[in-house]
Amino acid sequence: TIENYEPASNLLEGRLIMVTGAGDGIGKTAAMSYAAHGATVILLGKTIKKLEKVYDEIESAGYPEAVILPLDLQGATAADYATVAERIEEDFGRLDGLLHNAGILGDLTPLEHYDPETWNKVMQVNLTAEFLLTQAMIPLLRASQDSSVIFTSSSVGRKGRAHWGAYAVSKFATEGLMETLADEMDDKRNNARVNSLNPGATRTYMRHMAYPAEDPGRNPKPEAIMGTYLYLMGPDSRGITGEKFDAQVKR
Ligand code: NDP
Repeated sequence: TIENYEPASNLLEGRLIMVTGAGDGIGKTAAMSYAAHGATVILLGKTIKKLEKVYDEIESAGYPEAVILPLDLQGATAADYATVAERIEEDFGRLDGLLHNAGILGDLTPLEHYDPETWNKVMQVNLTAEFLLTQAMIPLLRASQDSSVIFTSSSVGRKGRAHWGAYAVSKFATEGLMETLADEMDDKRNNARVNSLNPGATRTYMRHMAYPAEDPGRNPKPEAIMGTYLYLMGPDSRGITGEKFDAQVKR
């Protein structure tokens, strides 16, 4: 099973992988973990200080030098994504992996009282930005010999739940985006596999915001759920596309 997956230490050697929301939480750990397995990681995120810290940690660990890419997914336009694509095209000519991880919670409140402005913000960061970034990256993903796109879902992206509002709906839509892209990329001209991954309850800032009264020690740290993140990003998942994964086994 993937739970017992043991990635080769050089699993991602020579690969160029972009991680969104790479400054904190699961995204930070995924970036570190991809770099530890040999990848050059493009650290996309909003808070530059956090990205710099991850960059420094990667450097002092002796992993391949990372690339910092500050971008606010709330306000970024199609032109901004085109600029990002141009820069990667010039410097690398391809992209081997894309982890859509950045996300915001919005409000936990009944739909009857859900603030429409918050709704739009959540949809922008959790869904529309994924579409715009993916669209800009498709030619670079196609230029790779073996590329992988991972969308981050949630348990409320597979079964709706009271009060999860725009967050739940954005995750359902992310699954739809994943399936649509997977179907489009599933031919000989494209080498990209496309899947979604639900991290499950994980000890991060977002989890704490969603469940402030909970003992954080109940949930695994991001480090403990990296198996599926590595499996889906690396060559061991070749040929697997359009599937929905869980990083934690349901007990
Ligand atoms: P965190 O809140 O810890 O981290 C979210 C990351 O997204 C941060 O790096 C943040 O950057 C970035 N981000 C937020 N808004 C923007 C923006 N406008 N532009 C660029 N980057 C932005 O969350 P988690 O690590 O917990 O969550 C990661 C993913 O996993 C999310 O998609 C979440 O929905 C999903 N998930 C998490 C679960 C959990 O239990 N933790 C469970 C199920 C799903 P900055 O810090 O600079 O704002």
